[in-house]
Amino acid sequence: VASTEITKLEVAGLQVQVVRKDIKNLHLGVYPPVGRIRVAAPRRVDDEAVRLAVVGKLGWIRRQQERFVNQERQTRREMVDGESHYNQGQRYRLAVVEKEAAPAVRIANKSRIEIQVRPGTSRNRREEILNEWYRTNLRDQIKPLVEAWADKLEVGLPEWQIRRMKTRWGSCNTDRRRILFNLELAKKPHTCVEYLVVHELIHLLERQHTPRFTELMDTHYPTWRSAKSLLNAQPLAYEDWTY
Ligand SMILES: [Zn+2]
Repeated sequence: VASTEITKLEVAGLQVQVVRKDIKNLHLGVYPPVGRIRVAAPRRVDDEAVRLAVVGKLGWIRRQQERFVNQERQTRREMVDGESHYNQGQRYRLAVVEKEAAPAVRIANKSRIEIQVRPGTSRNRREEILNEWYRTNLRDQIKPLVEAWADKLEVGLPEWQIRRMKTRWGSCNTDRRRILFNLELAKKPHTCVEYLVVHELIHLLERQHTPRFTELMDTHYPTWRSAKSLLNAQPLAYEDWTY
């Protein structure tokens, strides 16, 4: 069994990892979070050929790397003053106010999410308090959307819940007529929430992602593609989200 051979190459000031293995074509990739460059190449392809391939794609590589930087991939939030937090697609600074009173969250000055907690409140408890606020906001967004779209699509009103989910934005159990929405959606623009609502409700008409499903999306929500790419273009949470 032939093993893979990994080497490093510097091209135009960029570090490139080269992996040679038994493949037919050369593949160039740029990977998050920092835009690492990796070339998978057939064994017969020499360094010079790899170098040429990278040089030919320099513009594209730089654009990918910029995209990752701008995406500001979010690390675990520490729930402290000054941290960035998102709500409905907008970025806010977190302000923590310690006070002997019931916890509360509000938007102050259109620029801060102000979270009022009792002195000594732990990081995890602060996060719970903020998540409850997100949940309420998201519920207020989803409720009228589900009602309006269920009516428009004539699917009847399904049961729905907001959950914390690791890998999906939403899901629809067509047999039980139950839809789950990811709490993380509270951080996304309203259009993305609407897209998800329509997507999941259309599953009540078409269970799988078939051509008919796409046709139904095109008919009822023709802008779904841009809403979907907006959802994917937003800063990623510290988990990887796929949809
Ligand atoms: Zn789906």
